[in-house]
Amino acid sequence: MSASPDYSSAATVRAALLPSQAFIGGRSVSALSGETLPCIFPGDGKLLGHVAACDTADVDLAVNAARKAFEAGHWSRMAPQDRRKILLRFSELILEHRDELATLETLNVGKPFLNALNGDIPSAASCIAWFGEAIDKMYGEVGPTPADLTAVLTREPLGVVAAVVPWNYPLSMAAWKLGPSLAAGNSVILKPAEQSPYTALRIASLAMEAGLPEGVLNVVSGYGATAGQALGRHMDVDCVTFTGSTEVGKLFMRYAGESNAKRVSLELGGKSPQLVLADSDLDAAAAGVAAGIFANAGQVCNAGSRLIVERRVKDELLERIAKLAGALKIGDPFDPSTRLGPLVSKEQHDRVLGYIDAGLSEGASLLVGGARPAEQSSGYFIEPTIFDGVRNDMKIAQEEIFGPVLSTITVDGFEEGIAVANDTIYGLAAGVWTNDIRKAQRAAKAIRAGVVWVNCFDRGNMAVPFGGFKQSGHGRDKSLHAIEKYTDWKATWYAC
Ligand code: NAD
Repeated sequence: MSASPDYSSAATVRAALLPSQAFIGGRSVSALSGETLPCIFPGDGKLLGHVAACDTADVDLAVNAARKAFEAGHWSRMAPQDRRKILLRFSELILEHRDELATLETLNVGKPFLNALNGDIPSAASCIAWFGEAIDKMYGEVGPTPADLTAVLTREPLGVVAAVVPWNYPLSMAAWKLGPSLAAGNSVILKPAEQSPYTALRIASLAMEAGLPEGVLNVVSGYGATAGQALGRHMDVDCVTFTGSTEVGKLFMRYAGESNAKRVSLELGGKSPQLVLADSDLDAAAAGVAAGIFANAGQVCNAGSRLIVERRVKDELLERIAKLAGALKIGDPFDPSTRLGPLVSKEQHDRVLGYIDAGLSEGASLLVGGARPAEQSSGYFIEPTIFDGVRNDMKIAQEEIFGPVLSTITVDGFEEGIAVANDTIYGLAAGVWTNDIRKAQRAAKAIRAGVVWVNCFDRGNMAVPFGGFKQSGHGRDKSLHAIEKYTDWKATWYAC
């Protein structure tokens, strides 16, 4: 680590508050097997502690608790106005514990503490509040039937929802699932990634404190292949809502097909293009491209990892992006001046370095970065890295790296830029930078992605849906559209 890191808040949490047990049926419990998994601080690679490593038997208990709570109806049949009050209180409690939750998030995944404090935690709280507020403002429908009949359409909760989430934004991703699924009246089993269980485990007791009946929210920490698979294959889970890699998303579809045909919704990976046209504002584009790939050390599903730029402005643009990359302070994530923390794990660190090697061996040229920063002797740090001279068929242009690595592809004109942007298995997001309104519209229509940002990148709020086309998944998080994933329509016919 760099000199004199301030661990004061981390040390407090370490001493007293690191969660270690799963949360099932309203109680903190160890795994039945007694097994645990280690939690590592990515800033120095040292062990923080252990948490329960749940497997099939624990998942059975959690599903039973969730089913029992659902059938009891204390939550599922509670008046939406009352569910609203509890979710609003839950959101307030998250904010009241903001320092603690941000510390846990930074310890688990190494993201800069200030980003967790001012970004992840309030955004998770606002998501829970948004869906709490929404749920008593949604109406059913009446079908257009002949006069002797009335058909009433009501939204019903699905029952038991399993939410399986990744490590890059542990609490926000959990909140995107918990907000709408709980608001709709479901019982939920949340499975955080094995790298990042702390905030999920901590908020389970906050939810109880807010008034959520026991068994409505359960958290099973554990490995994907055991706890995750057990949820995916469980005969009494009605829905899996998943955020993570495309590879594991496909497994969940298989688990569903081989078990009870449960509903599966997937928010998966990406290889999002940033198309910069020659007429754009290059300062704005450079800032947007740099933030789009270096924020959260590039561990972002919609990271703008492919820069597709018109030849005329390529050198000028890259010079500006390289300057911005060089100004990013790398180091201790608890240091307020740090902008780029470590990657989440040794495995991810090695994987990203492997992609950098692949880029070099396929003939791309390294403009900046490409290695562990010299001043960081421990922890999983990688310099912001920019490749030039990338062809779109190279590994570093096609595969999701999930690190601070930008691949630059040069094109000769708009049509080629669109073709390259769409030449990917993914379709999560895209950025377009141009001052020509017609080109902006043509690009936005032509690019196959669930989100297109024009002259901005990574903007969003809770009222607008987020999710991908193609192998970036299906179904949407955020907004009222997310409610669709967690409810079924019931048609009730009345003869008059
Ligand atoms: P991952 O797919 O490895 O893991 C995600 C979750 O699935 C974890 O909880 C993990 O334990 C579980 N899992 C792993 N293997 C499993 C298996 N065999 N069976 C059942 N469950 C299993 O993803 P990750 O490395 O945690 O996160 C990075 C990925 O998440 C990237 O691909 C990124 O693009 C994606 N992501 C997507 C979005 C989005 O909204 N589209 C948001 C954030 C991250």
